[in-house]
Amino acid sequence: MNHLLHFDDSRAIAFQRPSLKSISEKDLAEMPVYDILCGKSAGLPFDYLMTDVYSGCLPIKSICYGNCSAAEYWINKGFNFGMRHINRFDEVKFRESIVNLPPQQRWLRQGWVSDCSLSKKSWDLLGPATDILMEYNIRLVIISKIFTKPSLEIMRQLAQNKAEIRVSISAIDTKREIEKRFEFLDAYRQVGGLAVPYLMSFRYADAALKNNQELIVSKIIADDYIASEHPLRLSNDNAGLESAEEDRHYHPKFADQTWFGRLYNDAGNFVLPPPTFLPPEYDFNYIRYSDLAKAGAQFSFNNLPTYQDLIEKNLIHTNTFDHANYDVK
Ligand code: SF4
Repeated sequence: MNHLLHFDDSRAIAFQRPSLKSISEKDLAEMPVYDILCGKSAGLPFDYLMTDVYSGCLPIKSICYGNCSAAEYWINKGFNFGMRHINRFDEVKFRESIVNLPPQQRWLRQGWVSDCSLSKKSWDLLGPATDILMEYNIRLVIISKIFTKPSLEIMRQLAQNKAEIRVSISAIDTKREIEKRFEFLDAYRQVGGLAVPYLMSFRYADAALKNNQELIVSKIIADDYIASEHPLRLSNDNAGLESAEEDRHYHPKFADQTWFGRLYNDAGNFVLPPPTFLPPEYDFNYIRYSDLAKAGAQFSFNNLPTYQDLIEKNLIHTNTFDHANYDVK
């Protein structure tokens, strides 16, 4: 059954922020270029981070759902986030930064303030980078919206080097985007890679959007994916909030943003937490939920609060949002 046949993207365009759209990008400075390095001793805010392949990402009119904290950060600093550049890759410096990671750090996140799928060139840089990381027994957790797909050769290289690729999907993407992202998830899993649908969930009042989200979840379950959920945060001036449920919650750290916590904690496939909750020694060797279930494997990760937790004002643990800071040295 084609689960996405009735996916209705007619509301996607509504998710914009008038305050951002009024900024004149041509008056902003070019994005700085960085060395691609890993971990805190290299200047990144956390040891689990690798510098994004790109500095900058999309122009204001195209930023995801009108809400991107990285875009907002750079625009507020006077930089044109949409005029992106590929960062510098120097193998010697890259290796030095790996050697300086804490010994227990077994994974690194790629894709926290940009997206490595913005060009083929960027994927081509990342494939060989995972060869180097594997020498140190470190794998990548890549988060991407798959603007372009890597070649089959790079996909094989990434899978061989145990790269986990999380593909962000939501009810407010376009139908073409959703189809392309699921096509990629399927292709990456077929070459043996851990392909994780990363659901940006939200409580919609709008019937079409509600239905879109259910279609995505039923596809994740029917296609036997290991999945992860990341509740979408929308700024309170986002025009798309007209489509949200009325019992809104404000994000505990960002009081100007509405969110609803996790909604699919009862669906077994949603095994993995957002990367910020993965322990340094994180490793994961299943690519299908049924295999994990057959093996009776148990994983208990810390995770974001559920919708029910928010209603009961139960934030699980006091440092739940310590990671929710954004700064670049
Ligand atoms: S892909 Fe990521 S970094 Fe780029 S605009 Fe979208 S949310 Fe922001």
